[in-house]
Amino acid sequence: MPRYFIWTIGCQMNKAESQQIAGYLDSAGYQAAGSFSNADLVVLNTCVVRQNAENKVLGTLGLLKGLKSKRPGLQILITGCFVNSHTQELQRRFPHIDLLFKPGDYLELIAWGKNQGIPIEQRPLCYPSNNGWTAPSPCTFTPIIQGCDNFCSYCIVPYRRGREMSRPVKEIVCETEELVGQGIKEITLLGQNVDSYGHDLPGHPDLADLLSELSSIGDLIRIRFLTNHPKDISLKLIEAMASLNKVCEYLELPVQAGDDDILKVMRRGYTVEQYRELVHTIRSKVPQISLSTDIIVGFPGETEEQFEHSLSIIKEMRFDVVHVAAYSPRPGTIAQREYQDSIPAEVKKERLNKIEELQVSIASEINSQLWGKEMEVLVEGRKGGKWFGRTQSNKLVFFEDTGDWLGHLAKVQINKTSPWSLKGQVKK
Ligand code: SAM
Ligand code: SF4
Repeated sequence: MPRYFIWTIGCQMNKAESQQIAGYLDSAGYQAAGSFSNADLVVLNTCVVRQNAENKVLGTLGLLKGLKSKRPGLQILITGCFVNSHTQELQRRFPHIDLLFKPGDYLELIAWGKNQGIPIEQRPLCYPSNNGWTAPSPCTFTPIIQGCDNFCSYCIVPYRRGREMSRPVKEIVCETEELVGQGIKEITLLGQNVDSYGHDLPGHPDLADLLSELSSIGDLIRIRFLTNHPKDISLKLIEAMASLNKVCEYLELPVQAGDDDILKVMRRGYTVEQYRELVHTIRSKVPQISLSTDIIVGFPGETEEQFEHSLSIIKEMRFDVVHVAAYSPRPGTIAQREYQDSIPAEVKKERLNKIEELQVSIASEINSQLWGKEMEVLVEGRKGGKWFGRTQSNKLVFFEDTGDWLGHLAKVQINKTSPWSLKGQVKK
């Protein structure tokens, strides 16, 4: 049986798409290989959101060039945000690649398979996630909207993933029912901006409508979604979160900066005050909400004072999780064309470290308040001899027990906390 290996970096969307590609290759009679070295076909699912990620892609392409010179039969496919519209130029630069296809363009993959005599099935397949620690997990990721129409000035995603395109409600519900039949208990709906979901569909269903449809699937226990955009999230959605039990009390709501002038040049479409009011509304309707955010430091021209404003918003909001990134100029974006990358790398690094330090202290305070509490955990697998899973609020919890907890809800009394995870004892 021929073997495939999928190499994935980047966001949850890429991970979900790699699962789908695995499904297509399984349908064609391929078997998963453990590494590049014993694969006949390799898929690189790539990210170029920052230069670091792009460098990893280039490094891996170099490695594969070496492998292919030793094994000319090795087939190399590449997808993800590395694939731009100039595919012929990319093909010239990297002649050892057999197929370049845009993220989610499985028709291209199927057509290529047909040419090669690889019978890939047309049916969209969604597979339970395998997070690398154990397989299979009861949790899965499902893309519901492709692309992004926002054009934040720093971001390459709209150029590489194209305009927004929603999947019909019926298709998502049907697919989820099928997955639940296979043992899936938790679904995370994915989109670069899930708040835009449905605007391009007949009748304009929105995310709140989709959530209530999915909530009626009997054995589905939890529903999550990400990422939200502060300028687009609606009151209707917040109210749906408050009223639908299966919808988890967890939101990813990237603020990106705590300064109005920086937000403006980032083209984010909201002010700090509007973000503050939004979080206030969310917390008043869903008091147990756990919030995660993204911040970029060192955007062109960011002064020390403007950076301090980002620290202030973190202190004020007390997010559960903060992902911080140093600004990286991306080809073709508005920021790269219009502003000089003026903040030195050492200053970016210093700012990034300051935010990380601050967040460690906030997260450790927030999590320490969970000591002694009993939390419900959906068990996803085992790592280092312990069971692990997440709470509704997306806190990672570990516990030890000899029973088989995979896919079950466990009540765990927390007896150890850290900024990143919790430990406890399972109640039986
Ligand atoms: N759609 C989401 C949003 O509205 O924030 C996030 C998608 S983006 C691909 C993921 C994160 O990467 C962003 O939240 C941002 O913090 C970071 N990012 C995007 N472009 C970046 C850049 N040029 N430099 C540094 N970080 C960047
Ligand atoms: Fe990029 Fe902004 Fe779209 Fe997020 S909303 S994917 S940051 S352009």
